Amino acid sequence: MAGEFRGGSGSGGGLGGGRFHYIETEERPQISKSMLARIARYFLPYWKLIILLAGAIIITAVLGLLPAIITRNIIDIALPQKNLNLLIILILSSFGAVLLSGLISVGQNYLNSWIAKYIMYDIRNSMFNHLQYMSIRFFSNVKTGEITSLMNNDIGGIESTFSNTFVNITQNIFIFVITAVTMFYTNWKLAIVGMLILPLFILPTRKVGKVRWKIATQTQEKLAELNSIIYESLSISGTMLVKLFTREKTQSEKFEKINKDATRLQIKESLAGRWFFMAISSVVAIGPMIIYLVGGLILIKYNDITIGSIVMFVALLSRLYGPVTSFANITVDLTRSMALFERIFKYMDIKQEIADKPGSLKLSRIKGNIKFQDVNFSYNEKALTIKDINIDIKAGQMVAFVGPSGSGKTTLTYMLPRFYDVDSGTITIDGINIREIKIEALRGQIGMVTQDSYLFNTSIKENLLFSNPDITEEEMFQACKTANIHDLIISLADGYDTMVGDRGIKLSGGEKQRIAIARVLLKNPRIVILDEATSALDSVSESLIQSAIEPLLEGRTSLVIAHRLSTILAADCIYVLEKGQIVEQGTNEHLLELNGVYKNLYDKQFNSQGDV
Ligand code: ADP
Repeated sequence: MAGEFRGGSGSGGGLGGGRFHYIETEERPQISKSMLARIARYFLPYWKLIILLAGAIIITAVLGLLPAIITRNIIDIALPQKNLNLLIILILSSFGAVLLSGLISVGQNYLNSWIAKYIMYDIRNSMFNHLQYMSIRFFSNVKTGEITSLMNNDIGGIESTFSNTFVNITQNIFIFVITAVTMFYTNWKLAIVGMLILPLFILPTRKVGKVRWKIATQTQEKLAELNSIIYESLSISGTMLVKLFTREKTQSEKFEKINKDATRLQIKESLAGRWFFMAISSVVAIGPMIIYLVGGLILIKYNDITIGSIVMFVALLSRLYGPVTSFANITVDLTRSMALFERIFKYMDIKQEIADKPGSLKLSRIKGNIKFQDVNFSYNEKALTIKDINIDIKAGQMVAFVGPSGSGKTTLTYMLPRFYDVDSGTITIDGINIREIKIEALRGQIGMVTQDSYLFNTSIKENLLFSNPDITEEEMFQACKTANIHDLIISLADGYDTMVGDRGIKLSGGEKQRIAIARVLLKNPRIVILDEATSALDSVSESLIQSAIEPLLEGRTSLVIAHRLSTILAADCIYVLEKGQIVEQGTNEHLLELNGVYKNLYDKQFNSQGDV
């Protein structure tokens, strides 16, 4: 049985090799045209709303100018003329502009989060759909908690990327351009002085950006580790392991250490560049004085400017600080957003390893003849896991696979539903290569009961309906009766609505297996793969399972990884595997006569506990 702890040992062959990790290098991602185009594709469905948003941004940028312009008119016109009416009108208009701009900002924020949330909604949906079609190999190799983090942190980060980066940049560009044009239009000489002050904000930024990026990358890695520990330790299986080995203290210490590193890095990140911002604040304070100095010179020497215009310039200049500071951080913000999308796209780009070929066949009803011809397969390039396998199973026959643990029995059965594809050789069903059959049609014909039957953490009923949502209650009861589990289910307080707990923890192994058998009976496939439980069951559970298995296998082609004598005796053919190869095959009598590997296994197991 290929269990969950084997994950890391695979090569990740079909995934471009190696494991996935949050950020693989510390290099800053390139902001390429193709990347931007790809991101834009997600925004495209919302173009009308985005135009509306841009409209709101332009209007607020223009409205933002009005208080400064009105101030100029108050100083230059209303006050010198001692015109009280005009003064009141101007003050009210300024107030109106501020109010209107506030109202539009509310709408803008609403639009902003609506668009961002729906882009996230789209990406989350398509990512979930995409990941569902990933191969078993992918899930064996992916790091614990990585997918959860991708879905929550990375995709969840898109909202702030949209609001803080894309919208912010656009808004700042508009504010900058509109304000600068107004300044040049009013007095180009003073405008040039204003512009000359601005580079002081931009120059040191690259360095700060780089430092921040580096720390952010390290922080993210630590947070990923933290996630991994949370996910692994605080799950049913993880907790059990921790408790059994009384590792609570060490786990807490390990967690605390990584948590501390992550916290330190986060503090470091937020402190990076503080000196730089202090310098900027000084510029902010000095800026108006320079304008008063130069504006005053122009006024006193050439009388080429009004007092109101100078005051307006100071107000306008302060409107430029915001955009310029944000332009200074533009590369950091953009790179961060690019990294986010890069991670998302990295997963999106992983090709479906096992996919339908064009023109593949839809099978309706199959007989169930199965043939393995010269099949070879390996999880990694090092050694073959199964070698030169030739099996011929006639429709309706039951074959058993026996052999030591790790001999490749489970792997062999995984080839049939194409959990993994053969490296060489062919597998056919009714003479048709399974690679030519639509995957959905192929898997629709196969039922599987594994040793550790997986149940979703929901009710028994929903777990049963998973095989076929259209079945009637009567059919469900019937299947459970056949699987010898109905009586137990109705004896539970909530009957079929009983919640089974994480991975079905609230049920015993034998009960879970019988529910899994009922689930397959409801699917009614032509082919059944059964991995019998290895653990010795008490005689009651044993006989309950035994009589559930009979109708499961009856009339279907079945491949059983056998551990029980009764199954082995009933098999039409027994294949004995050793190190991925079939070393003996035939009926029980034939194999006993051979007096080889099988006889050895048989004597060792059945004569002692009745289990191979
Ligand atoms: P059996 O069912 O006979 O116990 P398996 O088919 O589960 O054997 O395993 C056969 C071999 O393949 C073992 O050596 C096992 O370690 C290896 N193996 C199983 N699953 C994986 C996997 N996902 N990645 C890499 N190696 C694996």
